[in-house]
Amino acid sequence: MYNRERYQKNRVKQINQAVAWKRANRDRVHIMNKRYYEKHREYFKKYTSKRQKEKKLTVFLHYTAGDIKCACCGEKTFDFLCVDHVNNDGNEHRKTRGTGLGFYAWIIRNNFPGGLQILCMNCNWGKVRNGGMCPHKSVNNL
Ligand SMILES: [Zn+2]
Ligand SMILES: [Zn+2]
Repeated sequence: MYNRERYQKNRVKQINQAVAWKRANRDRVHIMNKRYYEKHREYFKKYTSKRQKEKKLTVFLHYTAGDIKCACCGEKTFDFLCVDHVNNDGNEHRKTRGTGLGFYAWIIRNNFPGGLQILCMNCNWGKVRNGGMCPHKSVNNL
């Protein structure tokens, strides 16, 4: 009985100590990470944007067969272009895979799945607003 009580007390003490140590350590790790990040802020910014561009470029090259342009209007400005879901199931994809860099990484990881094309922001937005067909195409069809 006596031993058991002592054991319980020690156990509580040990747990409290472990929790306290973890807390102290977590703060220290957090501060270290923050300092490191601040010191190399410019590097991280450049690094992520470069990697992001490389992933984007890889995806664009694939879906345009090497001739990077909007599949609808032919816009060639890299920063205006984005990946579009041909069958307008983009919301489903985004729900499960996320957006932005994560999406490009997902496309590459999954060996460039079908049903995707490259559109410029105008055509992509126009298509959404126009019930699945870019206004460019509606005009041509009249
Ligand atoms: Zn376009
Ligand atoms: Zn268009």
